[in-house]
Amino acid sequence: MAATIDKDACVGCGACAGECPCEAITVEDVAVVDADTCVSCGACAGACPAGAITVE
Ligand code: SF4
Ligand code: SF4
Repeated sequence: MAATIDKDACVGCGACAGECPCEAITVEDVAVVDADTCVSCGACAGACPAGAITVE
């Protein structure tokens, strides 16, 4: 599994991308996770001020 972004909750701040050790997240209007790169570590979810990330 990979991190999933709630696009309605994401405010595009980029905090998650800064915490990702795999550079799996890109942020344009909202964050997008490259599921093939994500290792489901959870660092992004902990950094998100909007609670927009779920890691399963
Ligand atoms: S769960 Fe970890 S590897 Fe996956 S996008 Fe978040 S910080 Fe990056
Ligand atoms: S940290 Fe949360 S609100 Fe900020 S860009 Fe990432 S998913 Fe969106």
